[in-house]
Amino acid sequence: MNRRKLVVGNWKMNGLRAQLGEIEAIGALATDHPAAEIGLCVPATLIGAADAIKGAAFIGAQDCHMKDNGAHTGCLSAAMLAEAGASWTIIGHSERREDQGETDADVAAKALAAQAAGLKVILCVGESLSVRDAGDAENVVSAQLLASLPEGAAADWLAIAYEPIWAIGTGRIPTMEQVAAMHGALRSALESCIGSEAGAMRILYGGSMNGENAAELMAVPDVDGGLVGGASLTAAKFAPVIAAAG
Ligand code: PEP
Repeated sequence: MNRRKLVVGNWKMNGLRAQLGEIEAIGALATDHPAAEIGLCVPATLIGAADAIKGAAFIGAQDCHMKDNGAHTGCLSAAMLAEAGASWTIIGHSERREDQGETDADVAAKALAAQAAGLKVILCVGESLSVRDAGDAENVVSAQLLASLPEGAAADWLAIAYEPIWAIGTGRIPTMEQVAAMHGALRSALESCIGSEAGAMRILYGGSMNGENAAELMAVPDVDGGLVGGASLTAAKFAPVIAAAG
């Protein structure tokens, strides 16, 4: 199955209007690399301004509420994010699962809310270091994926990001064998749930991906791109990752 590589920057809680020039430059990189799909998930405050200068990149959000509206002070609905200019959103990042106590059921509900508002979704899963050390990572992350997967999951609006928690922001990455084993296990888990649709669904790797390791990581079977934090914050750092995707 030929899956178009998807490379997405996650700016987390970084970025003010002073960084709009970086977003514009990353949009231009996306224009120069049409073989891959490139996006940038920016803080919600920057979505509108980023949308105006995004070139061939898409602009995404980093979360959405599971409800359409109501008494949820400080939260943003998927429709609000779409109206601001987002076309994708990350859901279930480990930092939100940990900091905000988001459960697998919350993640599935948020993904459905996003899809209902017309957003595409990057659904994140990944194991802690203790689970990795216990030798149980594939089973635990496969179960997490199946419990987080929304009804009607389909490749035209949903991608998965495998992000080992211990690799995020640490400079450590799994071995290529570990990445291959995990991505193969996640593809099989998807097959058990959504059948042949699993063959079209993109599974990204995330966790300390950068210009030095991106080509090797993206050459691993079943790795269909990357979710990139620190190395997406400037066009200069993101450029070799985008180039590695084609
Ligand atoms: C992330 O948090 O999604 C991520 C992959 O971060 P980093 O690339 O900085 O490890």
